[in-house]
Amino acid sequence: MIIKDAMCSVCGATCDDLTVEYDPEKKTMNVQNACRMGSAKLHEVFNEHRITSPMVKKGGNLVECGWDEALDRAADILAGADYPLFFMGSECFSEAQLVGIKMAEYLGGNVDGNATICHGPTVMGIQDAGLVTATMGEVKNRADLIIYWGTNPIESMPRHMSHYAVFPRGYFTKAGRRNRKIVVVDPRKTPSANISDLFIQIKPGTDYELFAAIRAILKGNPVDPSIEDTTGVRMDDIKGLIEMMKGAKFGAIFVGLGTASSFGKYRTQAAAMHLVQELNSHTKFVMGALRGHANVAGFNQVLSYYSGYPFSVNYSKGYPRFNPGEFTTVDMLAKGEPDAVLCLAGDLGAHLPRKSVENLSKTPLITIDVAMTPTTTLSEVVLPGVHTIESEGTMYRLDNVPLYSRKGMESPLGFTKSDEDTLNQLFERVKKRKK
Ligand code: SF4
Repeated sequence: MIIKDAMCSVCGATCDDLTVEYDPEKKTMNVQNACRMGSAKLHEVFNEHRITSPMVKKGGNLVECGWDEALDRAADILAGADYPLFFMGSECFSEAQLVGIKMAEYLGGNVDGNATICHGPTVMGIQDAGLVTATMGEVKNRADLIIYWGTNPIESMPRHMSHYAVFPRGYFTKAGRRNRKIVVVDPRKTPSANISDLFIQIKPGTDYELFAAIRAILKGNPVDPSIEDTTGVRMDDIKGLIEMMKGAKFGAIFVGLGTASSFGKYRTQAAAMHLVQELNSHTKFVMGALRGHANVAGFNQVLSYYSGYPFSVNYSKGYPRFNPGEFTTVDMLAKGEPDAVLCLAGDLGAHLPRKSVENLSKTPLITIDVAMTPTTTLSEVVLPGVHTIESEGTMYRLDNVPLYSRKGMESPLGFTKSDEDTLNQLFERVKKRKK
């Protein structure tokens, strides 16, 4: 059987041009157009390690059980909690994320997503400074200057260059790569830097200073020569970059976690956004962020329209409050505050600091996932996840464009149709207990 135009749920590129040929009897699969990460994710469907049965912890071990038993145990944990935390991961649809947000609101708990440990500073910068941006289609058709700043797409988002920004032929960029100049700004000479036209090796943590210096020069203000020592970039290179920027017909800066986690955090991202605003006095310029996970942007979008805030939201007073550092997953868990955690399609156990994971291991934890992870092994209840190719729903691409993914194949799970369905079933049981 063949699925055309399947969507990948691994990284923020959210490629929607995959062809998946599979044999449900032999459990074999051939994936075309995907990078190796995307292909591996789709192969999880038939992986022998796939979770196909609910599990609950008994005597310190996870044991398989019936669907009702697992859902009842999960509902008991959440209904009995005073301060639950809902972590909505990204390799899932926004419809499921929204049910988790509503559950957090209903229970007066907290809700957070992957941006809490990745592009949180970027979405805060957007709310602070405003973003001049464009869809990846516009970038493909128009951009003749692409600047990757603090990101290495060849390894982190393998098809960003080939599918969207560098190599494809667009309406006004008919010669593809030959119509575009590529600049990489990074402390390390990465594989992406190797194929650039200009590589600027910046000292780690000095992105704010370089963004500010470029903006000052663009505005005609003097910049102290000490900027060379501060950033490690020669004034000639700074001026050369500015000439490239001003000479472009349509420029695009893509920032990554290198700038999001640089000194200054969201102030650095806001400085980049102010620079792009200034560049629009000279030519057309846009900015985007290379989001790590497929639908991490979706969680920020959905939570923002629901609560006004993009991540780290607390409902304990009955209305949404946003305070990174207080209501963020890492900080709450480091202080041992949540008395229950629900984790959807995320792997907190593999990514959080040690203190947070130690406290997570002492907290009743419910996990929804397709495969065993460090987080599932810490869980009181494990509910099998439905792979995105087995259900339908919405994922937001890195440029915040929502894409609707069709169901491509049947799930082997008879008790749930999707992660959204699982969360809705759980929510109904929680409400019954609270009433
Ligand atoms: S680039 Fe990202 S979205 Fe595209 S196939 Fe690879 S992992 Fe999937």
